[in-house]
Amino acid sequence: MKKHNFSAGPCILPQEVFLKASEAVMDFNGSGLSLIEVSHRSKDFVEVMEKARNLALELLGLEGKGYKALFLQGGASLEFLMVAYNLLETKAGYLNTGTWSSKALKEARLFGEVIEVGSSKDENFNYIPKGYTIPNGLDYLHLTSNNTIFGTQLKKFPKVDIPLVCDMSSDIFSRQLDFSQFDLIYAGAQKNMGPAGTTLVVVKEDILGKVSREIPSMLDYKVHISKDSMFNTPAVFAVYTSMLTLEWLKNLGGIAAIEEINEKKAQLLYSEIDLNPVFEGFAKKEDRSNMNATFNLTDSKLKDTFDALWKEAGINGINGHRSVGGYRASMYNALPLESVGVLVDVMSEMERKG
Ligand code: PLP
Repeated sequence: MKKHNFSAGPCILPQEVFLKASEAVMDFNGSGLSLIEVSHRSKDFVEVMEKARNLALELLGLEGKGYKALFLQGGASLEFLMVAYNLLETKAGYLNTGTWSSKALKEARLFGEVIEVGSSKDENFNYIPKGYTIPNGLDYLHLTSNNTIFGTQLKKFPKVDIPLVCDMSSDIFSRQLDFSQFDLIYAGAQKNMGPAGTTLVVVKEDILGKVSREIPSMLDYKVHISKDSMFNTPAVFAVYTSMLTLEWLKNLGGIAAIEEINEKKAQLLYSEIDLNPVFEGFAKKEDRSNMNATFNLTDSKLKDTFDALWKEAGINGINGHRSVGGYRASMYNALPLESVGVLVDVMSEMERKG
């Protein structure tokens, strides 16, 4: 039986993507070679890279607006420092909404002054800070749109006249936004896009080239842009699989279509969390993430019963992150509504038992 995979990432991908990716691993485009043994400079793979980059821009509505898409390596974690390397001349602002923002902030401190414009650390990051002020003279402002571990999500983004940088690792392609309000977006592939191994960076070209330091080639966005994201050997399998997922999303109707499904999944689970006395949500209601729902049992003595029930139902990956405890159900784009239905049924059964 295929599991209901609520894992936080790497995570579920569309079934048809698995099928197409495994076909290509056996025989890429009828070449008699595997996708993972062809040259990345071959015509067929160069086309894959181009298509993946174009699809990313198309789905985000950023075609023809001065942006470039890159598929890099090193995970979103490398972007924490690449962003600062390329953009931080004197000082930058960071909104600290969780573990990943804190890590981004720590790396940026190696390159200049970092101002924490707001933080929700005082309540273990269960909310998004509001009403914070953004000081003048920043080189950029860095945000994390979705906090994978704590289950919070930014619903509104500040209007600023400096470059806006956003780590969208765990909610890119999941909801409609005016993506042109951002100047640099980055996201590890392993949630809404593909397997681990590549990171999508979408950057507005005109914000680059403004820092005075020398940048090592591999860490320089301009170098990667000038080489069409092929400065060094790309993660061919991860890029190909990301391209398939982006194609799947486009055929489904794009971000608008998936957003509707994501809303239904989130509503179904959160209404169960709110109505069922056996459970309580972790994140403040107004800041709840549609991708990662965090919740606890109101009585920890019920843990063994609940754990046995969800495992029996074929559910995988809902243990909470160690810094939060409890449970976390990740409902990325490829997770079917039916899987959420199975989880909600198990939770209702707990209420009957409890
Ligand atoms: N940013 C966010 C929001 C994440 O959820 C994660 C990983 O889960 C990361 C950054 C780090 O990503 P990577 O493991 O690709 O470096």
